[in-house]
Amino acid sequence: MPASATSSTSTPGAREHPRPRLGVSSCLLGASVRYNGGHSRDRFLTGLLSGHVDWIPVCPEMEIGLGAPRPAMRLRTDGHIVTKDETADHTAAMSDLADHRIDDLGDLDGYVLKARSPSCGLFNLPRYASGRPGERTDGQPVDRTGRGVFAARIRAALPDLPIEEDGRLNDPVLREHFVERVFAHARLRVFFASDWRPRDLVAFHSRHKMQLLAHTPEGYRETGRIAARAGDRPRADLEDDYRRAFAAALAVRAGRGRHTNALQHLLGFIGDGLDPTRRHDILTAIDSYRRGRAPLSVPIALLRHHAEGEHLRYVADQTYLDPFPDDLVLRHHL
Ligand code: SF4
Repeated sequence: MPASATSSTSTPGAREHPRPRLGVSSCLLGASVRYNGGHSRDRFLTGLLSGHVDWIPVCPEMEIGLGAPRPAMRLRTDGHIVTKDETADHTAAMSDLADHRIDDLGDLDGYVLKARSPSCGLFNLPRYASGRPGERTDGQPVDRTGRGVFAARIRAALPDLPIEEDGRLNDPVLREHFVERVFAHARLRVFFASDWRPRDLVAFHSRHKMQLLAHTPEGYRETGRIAARAGDRPRADLEDDYRRAFAAALAVRAGRGRHTNALQHLLGFIGDGLDPTRRHDILTAIDSYRRGRAPLSVPIALLRHHAEGEHLRYVADQTYLDPFPDDLVLRHHL
């Protein structure tokens, strides 16, 4: 892997992480491309996260030839994107652009979209009447179930890709989950791009077992079944199946109960080699996390420390203990 394709942290024992490739609405990185000539620069994206990822910025409205500033637009219930005064309909141009861009964006590991945009918004956009019988005529939204035209095409074409909106990433749980999925996606992308052998997939899967278990036991078992048959099947089929099952498992949000289960499994792997005082410390930390009295980062740090100290490679190598660069400090808030 070229040096520029990875990032690492200063924490002793921390693994080297791949640099995920993330699509992003350009205005979130500070480009002055919004309809009003402004931007929506996001502090987390342009600050902490920028040091660890490669951005692929896209402003769909600029790329279809609209300048900034430009007339504001909105969505209609028939799926069209039009100027507020209904004098221009940009639906066809936007759809064509999305189809073209999906082909040339390359292998992405995630996408961050600008909320509330009729082009980029992913959730709950206001939809306005398109003249259908029974629709309100007072100029107010008919409902708030819309999805931006560009965002909808991206979501449909790349169903397994982690995609989020900027606003939702202010929630610590959603932020950690998105970033975890992005880095896992990047690890799998880099792995499948290598000259891998069936035993390598088994090893890759083995390192991800506790991470998968923390999300969904069913997904943990399903990915395990696929990896176990790695030598029996055409490589392309195997990659497709594992990629889909891996993404689906990690898309399930890990709650406190499942995190606790994964932590207890890891403690079990550390085994009897641990002296009673240290075991008690870890058990106490896991229980404090389970009760909501300590963040996830506390038992994780203890388990990692002891796994490294005791040279317990199976435990120390688990991606669950180190799923993304430490300096993103995402697990201090879970
Ligand atoms: S929300 Fe999307 S279309 Fe609007 S300015 Fe940002 S990148 Fe461009």
